[in-house]
Amino acid sequence: AMNNGTAGTTNTLPNAATSSSAGFSRQACRSRYESWRYYKYFPYAASPYLQRKLRAYEARHRRCAPGTPLYAKSVEQLRSGRSADAGMECSYVVWLPFDGLGNRMLSMVSGFLYALLTDRVFLVALPPDSTDIFCEPFPADIEKSYTRLLDAKVIGPDANATAAGVPPYVYLSIGWQLKDPLFFCGEHQLVLGKVNWLLLYSDLYFSASRAVADELRRLFPAKESVSHLLSRYLLHPTNPVWSLATRYYRSYLAPAKRRIGVQIRMFRYGADDMFNQILACSRQENILPETDDADDDDDAVVVAVATRSADNGGSNSTAILVASLYADYYERLRSRYYVHAAKGGERVAVFQPSHEEQQATANMAHNQRALAEIYLLSFSEELLTSGTSTFGYVSSNLAGVRPTILLTAYGHKVPDPPCRRAVSMEPCNLTPPKGVQCQSKPLKEDVERHVRVCEDSKNGVKFF
Ligand code: GDP
Repeated sequence: AMNNGTAGTTNTLPNAATSSSAGFSRQACRSRYESWRYYKYFPYAASPYLQRKLRAYEARHRRCAPGTPLYAKSVEQLRSGRSADAGMECSYVVWLPFDGLGNRMLSMVSGFLYALLTDRVFLVALPPDSTDIFCEPFPADIEKSYTRLLDAKVIGPDANATAAGVPPYVYLSIGWQLKDPLFFCGEHQLVLGKVNWLLLYSDLYFSASRAVADELRRLFPAKESVSHLLSRYLLHPTNPVWSLATRYYRSYLAPAKRRIGVQIRMFRYGADDMFNQILACSRQENILPETDDADDDDDAVVVAVATRSADNGGSNSTAILVASLYADYYERLRSRYYVHAAKGGERVAVFQPSHEEQQATANMAHNQRALAEIYLLSFSEELLTSGTSTFGYVSSNLAGVRPTILLTAYGHKVPDPPCRRAVSMEPCNLTPPKGVQCQSKPLKEDVERHVRVCEDSKNGVKFF
């Protein structure tokens, strides 16, 4: 169970949902136990080594989490401004919220992976807009989380962190802003290893840290499984979010034979004619059902097709789920299948759960709907996503699907090709450290072999 801390109750991550444990009742977090029923693919199981590592993590979390004597000791050390004592048992990564939901999910997964690799405990500081979004993955006292420490002015950006020697805590900025690129060097990892409290400020996915390449390879023999396995392990929507997602799924998506998720994110640098980009992409990769445009004026044929398919009980039906802040593309897709019959008599229905018009990350109800849509996308057999969108990245890695990614439209023109099928379900690390001079040895060759330039960003890299 999304590992709740009862070591040994679970074997593989996808099946983690089936176990239960004290402190984690089914009622408290239904998604933890039910999500496996909605996912269509289980492409990777956790390696035995990853399983051991997670069990060890859970034990460490129980020992060191807020509410424990060891945590109190660590807070005391932090408060005193002293370096950690040599015998200090617990060290931490504290994740700080930054940017939209997709960004947050990716950086949480990355932060957790980092904690796993460096034997730390992972704590998250949840802002008020996120308190009812994710279930607590591990039993811990949220009341004493970093937010509270901040509020209590125990620690904070203005606190005096420069005691002689190693500071008790260090902020790390490794997202878009990437203020601490040396984080990725082995020799700096050694320094950071001595800091008890790492405050992680990131909005992006990262994992190809040079220092931890060996361990990463042992944990994840299949490189493209890293974020897939970890996000299914770590992220579980709370009941209100889960109700939104499952209610919608059962009403609109479950009756279809197959589901195609289309995620449309409009960035400033998007194509002027994104609808055409979507259609061209769909044609190229054979995603959305083609229409019998030739039958336009022939009502008789359309009716005949409709009658035939009315009898086939959903055996040839497709549900297209559109996730977008706007209604426009949904309207156009829906109208396409209203005006034209789909080839072969296929029944096509187009759905969009919400169109929020604008991002409102500080609003919890908005975030709940956004997360519900991320999960609805992840229940699809096939995904067409927008390039450089973390919202699309998390949907794909939760789904265990290699998405087709719409490419960036330079000069607002529909790019050629309009899209590409992703080499893996891993998110793109959009800001890998560039030109950082590390003294330590470079990335191990066999890890590097599994890193390539992203489909949607020539500056980004991803595992495959
Ligand atoms: P990114 O900006 O595409 O990388 O994704 P983020 O998730 O980090 O930030 C975009 C935010 O805008 C989301 O978290 C939502 O709040 C909102 N948003 C964007 N697209 C959608 C959508 O399709 N549906 C909903 N409900 N919200 C969206």
